Amino acid sequence: MSDFATLRERMVERQIAARGLDDPALLAAFRAVPREDFLSGDYADYAYQDSPLPIESGQTISQPYIVALTIYAAGIAAGCRVLEVGAGSGYAAAVIGQIAGDVIAVERHRELVDLAQLRMRRLGYGNVRIVEGDGTLGWPEGAPFDAIVAAASGSHVPQSWIAQLKPGGRIVMPIGEAHAVQTLLKVTKHGDGSLSHEDLGGVRFVPLIGAEGFAG
Ligand code: SAH
Repeated sequence: MSDFATLRERMVERQIAARGLDDPALLAAFRAVPREDFLSGDYADYAYQDSPLPIESGQTISQPYIVALTIYAAGIAAGCRVLEVGAGSGYAAAVIGQIAGDVIAVERHRELVDLAQLRMRRLGYGNVRIVEGDGTLGWPEGAPFDAIVAAASGSHVPQSWIAQLKPGGRIVMPIGEAHAVQTLLKVTKHGDGSLSHEDLGGVRFVPLIGAEGFAG
């Protein structure tokens, strides 16, 4: 069997670069983060599969390509302050942290928060903060953000996220019904406060559960 470093490089080339996402900073971020360290037990062996995988608390780690598409669409670049809603394993937050200045990642399941915090400490990712809470309310103490990305789907973009976004900021979020195919939506907040919307295609995410999301 190939070692993880070889599998990781193959993942970056075949699943991300070959599909048109070839920004050097984006590819370097995926090369740097060991996805196997964000999975438990036997699932680590499948870390570089082209798919989401089960994690604790009945949730999933996103497919690497979808994480890449989200980062690219949200225009995450050096120095950005980013909020991720739905930290889960912490993998996407860790990758974002390789590119951005600061990341706050909110997660509602305590078990996942504890595991993700431990991973950030072990891997030395000091600019990624994993916090427990209802991310449908954003994270007011950390605002304003250059980008807000959601790893869980909702019926609409929470008002609090728009309020916590800088002028020129971007939100990338799956919109649609729970347990169905959703549309990955990009919302840009312009300098005059107006919003524009862009449809990035079909995706399938777990539901966002909370005050401005689905009922738990
Ligand atoms: N980015 C994650 C994907 C996790 S799946 C990764 O790379 O592993 C989405 C996560 O969103 C789940 O862990 C789920 O518990 C969380 N979630 C759902 N609703 C939430 C809410 N209102 N606030 C914070 N997290 C939420």
